[in-house]
Amino acid sequence: MNSIVAIRKCNEYNVTEITDLIADIYESCNGPDPRNKKILLKPNILSDSDPLKCVSTHPAVVEAMIIYLQSKGATVLVGDSPSIHMRGFRPVNSGITAVCEKTGAEWVDFLLSPSAVKAGGSRIRIASAVRETDLIISLPKFKNHELMLFTGAIKNTLGLVPGFIKARQHAIHQDRDRFAEFLVDLNESVLPHFFLMDAVRGMEGPGPGQGIPVSIGVLIGSANPLALDIIATTLADYDPLEIPTNTVALARGKWLRDPGEIIYDGPEPESLVKKDFKRIIESGSKNTLYSFIFNRFKRIRRIQRRPVFIHRNCTGCMECIRICPVNAIRMHPEKKNHVVLNDRQCIRCFCCSEVCRYHAVEIRRKLFGV
Ligand code: SF4
Ligand code: SF4
Repeated sequence: MNSIVAIRKCNEYNVTEITDLIADIYESCNGPDPRNKKILLKPNILSDSDPLKCVSTHPAVVEAMIIYLQSKGATVLVGDSPSIHMRGFRPVNSGITAVCEKTGAEWVDFLLSPSAVKAGGSRIRIASAVRETDLIISLPKFKNHELMLFTGAIKNTLGLVPGFIKARQHAIHQDRDRFAEFLVDLNESVLPHFFLMDAVRGMEGPGPGQGIPVSIGVLIGSANPLALDIIATTLADYDPLEIPTNTVALARGKWLRDPGEIIYDGPEPESLVKKDFKRIIESGSKNTLYSFIFNRFKRIRRIQRRPVFIHRNCTGCMECIRICPVNAIRMHPEKKNHVVLNDRQCIRCFCCSEVCRYHAVEIRRKLFGV
């Protein structure tokens, strides 16, 4: 597989400038010929939030990609399935509905008649638009992820799986490594043809939903999701080999056998690394006493990271309860807006933190009880 990764500096969400940069990136990476094709764009719309929060791919990036593809005669469809997906969903607050209306791109609801594909050893339902289009272009957002540490190109493909079927995968693949295997299986079944990551502004800290917006200042493109994710996680100051999807995909050797095979086209990478990026510290790649202890005893549940519910912030919206794939949380029968965790049942998938829009779920680690 083509392993070119192209990076271009970009500090503003200016549609005209981004359209030119996308043309340059796409052509530098030998992106697939878009002429007269029917193309599905798959941004990351974790939830329908204000673009300033950096939860979703910025609408200017979506618009610029549509303009570039339409200039080549392509017919463009746009779709994604957020964590909580109700039929008829449209991403109004994130600005993507307005972009579709302005450009004439069609918004598709992934919940409508999904079809089944084989991913690893099992079958899973995916958006029917995957089968009905010639090309898929994925538009991931540069963000941390409490479970997978970083959410990039490989993770963004999960949004092709509509609705609650996504969360249910956490109950089937119950730890980070097994979930990484599943994500790579899924990409091997329905691999998008090109990836353009919105890293103009990204999210550090407790992503993918509750982190802190931060300027990264680049757009990153590749036809190879693993090559892109290795470069993106390097820019976020991770050791790319501590990101589980990277290690699983590298071990399989289908997209890349060695990071040294990446053909890099862009500014000096060292100058782009965000040395102060607030990473998710899990495996303890930094050589501290804490990481030494954690790595030796990480299977002991008492020192694992876990969701902690901040009752004073809770509105009682119940979204965390709806998304939890193993029914490990419930409302307190007497106390108002007070979510109760069944710690023994919790599989640490962190979906509850991902969907909470009120900063009422934090992921914390404590040595002895909560
Ligand atoms: S913790 Fe968050 S998602 Fe859960 S009920 Fe409270 S506000 Fe809603
Ligand atoms: S309580 Fe939260 S972290 Fe635990 S299983 Fe449910 S959604 Fe996942």
